[in-house]
Amino acid sequence: MRDLLTEEAAAEQARRCNLGRSINHGYKYAFLRSHAGTLVFDPISTTDYYGVSADAKCFRHSSPAPQEKCTCGFWSLVLRSHLGKSGTQSELTQRRQRRALILEVESSGALIRGDWGLRAEHIEVYSATLPSMCWRCKTAAVGLIALSDGIMTPCCHKHGSEANQVVLPIASIRRELQTQVLWAETPKPERKNRRT
Ligand SMILES: [Zn+2]
Ligand SMILES: [Zn+2]
Repeated sequence: MRDLLTEEAAAEQARRCNLGRSINHGYKYAFLRSHAGTLVFDPISTTDYYGVSADAKCFRHSSPAPQEKCTCGFWSLVLRSHLGKSGTQSELTQRRQRRALILEVESSGALIRGDWGLRAEHIEVYSATLPSMCWRCKTAAVGLIALSDGIMTPCCHKHGSEANQVVLPIASIRRELQTQVLWAETPKPERKNRRT
């Protein structure tokens, strides 16, 4: 499995090279969080929040990230389909994944290549795809609210007003982040889950 996916990632990078496209284009998960009055990305595995243009820090060494023999730097995967399958990003349980955004990033600066993608010194986030189902009832979300853990979470009209919070529409998120923000395509409902 691991080797197969590595080959897939390498093949995709070669394909992009042939097309004259950037090979530093990648995907990663993040939560969206309301922090000190602004929206920030929460990297899931650490508590160092970041914005749409971000520089990595190494927590173990007093040196710039990424470092060899360390896990620092901004991870991104070559293929979107690898999200949730490799490394730190697979730590996300399915339940938490329902609240995770998919970021499309361009990496630059110092880069360390791995099996699935790379670790970078700098990233620019140029699109963020929001989970599109209400966290409670799984119908189409109309916006996001901050739950008690601070993570912005998709909700429908009903569960947004029940939470007694301002539902942030996608247009506001776009305006605040100053990047492309999209709803994820709604996955087909699983057979066993009756629609509510
Ligand atoms: Zn480090
Ligand atoms: Zn709902």
